[in-house]
Amino acid sequence: MKSYRKELWFNIPSRRAFVNITREVEACLAESGIREGLCLVNAMHITASVFINDDESGLHHDYEVWLEKLAPHEPVSGYRHNVGEDNADAHMKRQIMGREVVVAVTEGRLDFGTWERIFYGEFDGHRKKRVLVKIIGE
Ligand code: ZN
Repeated sequence: MKSYRKELWFNIPSRRAFVNITREVEACLAESGIREGLCLVNAMHITASVFINDDESGLHHDYEVWLEKLAPHEPVSGYRHNVGEDNADAHMKRQIMGREVVVAVTEGRLDFGTWERIFYGEFDGHRKKRVLVKIIGE
């Protein structure tokens, strides 16, 4: 069995954003040389997510509105976590949007449904953060 590991780095210049990272993950898969197996992609931070969904800007706007309803950033003082920091909402948004995805690797490709793409979800940006890509197989 082969094993491949890589960290992707991000420094999002806003508090929140969704970034399509499908090409970066496909590049990892090509570099790995693995043809059959599993590809794990996970955020290495507790205020960021990795998830799979549609690359459609309306949907991403709807996520933003929905997440702000569920866990509004303001008022910052409304969260007990926010003692010396202001990111309680980001922890909650990450929880809802998920930590990781696992994609099957078949014949050297990510075995997606038609509209599936991989996204990095940032909820507390303005700093460097990492995503782990781990691929195992043969
Ligand atoms: Zn925090």
